[in-house]
Amino acid sequence: MTRLSSGRRRRRRTGYRPGVTADVVVVGAGPAGATAALAALRAHPGLDVRLVDRADFPRDKPCGDGIAPHALDVLAGLGLEGLFDDRIPVHRLRLVKQGHGAARTTRSPNFVVPREIFDARLVAAALDAGARFERRRVRAVDHLDARVVVLAHGAHPLPGAAPRRGRTAFALRGYAPTPPGRASEQVIVFGDQRQPSYAWSFDRGDGWANVGYGEVLSPARAAPSRALLLGELERLLPGATEDGRAWRGHHLPLSSWRFRPPEGRVLTVGDAAGLINPLTGEGIYYAVLTGAAAGRAAAEALAAGRPQAAGRRYRRAVTPALGVHLVNTAAAARLSTLDVVVDAGVRAAARDQRIFDDFVDLGLGGGTLTPRLGAGLVAGLLRTGS
Ligand SMILES: Cc1cc2nc3c(=O)[nH]c(=O)nc-3n(C[C@H](O)[C@H](O)[C@H](O)COP(=O)(O)OP(=O)(O)OC[C@H]3O[C@@H](n4cnc5c(N)ncnc54)[C@H](O)[C@@H]3O)c2cc1C
Repeated sequence: MTRLSSGRRRRRRTGYRPGVTADVVVVGAGPAGATAALAALRAHPGLDVRLVDRADFPRDKPCGDGIAPHALDVLAGLGLEGLFDDRIPVHRLRLVKQGHGAARTTRSPNFVVPREIFDARLVAAALDAGARFERRRVRAVDHLDARVVVLAHGAHPLPGAAPRRGRTAFALRGYAPTPPGRASEQVIVFGDQRQPSYAWSFDRGDGWANVGYGEVLSPARAAPSRALLLGELERLLPGATEDGRAWRGHHLPLSSWRFRPPEGRVLTVGDAAGLINPLTGEGIYYAVLTGAAAGRAAAEALAAGRPQAAGRRYRRAVTPALGVHLVNTAAAARLSTLDVVVDAGVRAAARDQRIFDDFVDLGLGGGTLTPRLGAGLVAGLLRTGS
């Protein structure tokens, strides 16, 4: 596991300078916040950037630990190439619905990296670039003394932060020994009872897999209990809970069809902005994408002497990347509440590598419902109906 060096630990503890207005204060040092701090300093290395978190790092965060190549591309753009050179890439993704499967090689590999490792590496990169770490819990947005504020506090609410739209899911994850039949792949088994839902087994490559089950919460039924979540995981992926440990649940704020950051000097990124893909529960790509855009927007607005313009710059950067994509994922998520559509999608992905690739880009990156994916779904529906 990567641990911060003692030098870095000392430096980040000296960050808090009460009474001195920071250029940028970032609340939350998860992937969104650490990337924002790094991006601001890459754009303008002399800035006073403070990265505030209630937790010390390394710290765990309940997650599937699946890191898509799309997220790594964003990080490579900030100079973080080879972040996982010491990890084993996962080339295969298997999608299963009611016994049918599409098991294929992805265009670029995914990585399954415990968040204790991934997040600490990003924080270390931000500190190396010059950010200062403050360990404290922020109680409200208006308590922050900064020219530009980046809110990256994740799924939990923070007084003063903008409310979000979009539905919420809940998922439970654990770590269990990888059975031989699920080695070297990421497996997703779509649910068939409490929709939309899925169980997963993501092999880490070290004999262990991140396993879990999650579902979209609905006012029409009671929130799932731990026993129900574990029961669904075991039912959909037999053997997945065996010798499992470190079970932890967490909410997922799913994205809606639109994300329009407000003007001003407070920018919201990642889960705090309600940005988790409603089809797959993937949020790390959005976290680093919006973090990078917000960090750059903050730095450029400060360099122009107009911190108030940071919000507008941020909006201009994220709209081309997410505008059309979010409309498409919202539509696809709505369709995915229908069993027949998921079934048709899996069948289409099993038939055609290009449809599989399009689905991966829509679910893990910034892709859209391509005509090919649409045609594949229709063809799958016709076959299912015949
Ligand atoms: C069970 C589960 C499985 C998932 N699987 C995947 C997956 O496989 N792949 C994927 O891409 N995404 C997955 N996600 C989503 C992913 O975990 C999130 O989208 C991602 O963590 C968002 O990063 P973030 O930086 O916005 O927030 P976080 O990672 O939640 O970081 C927020 C940080 O803010 C800090 N903080 C919070 N409040 C305060 C405060 N008041 N003051 C100071 N600090 C504060 C927290 O300590 C934390 O460090 C999953 C989510 C869950 C729950």
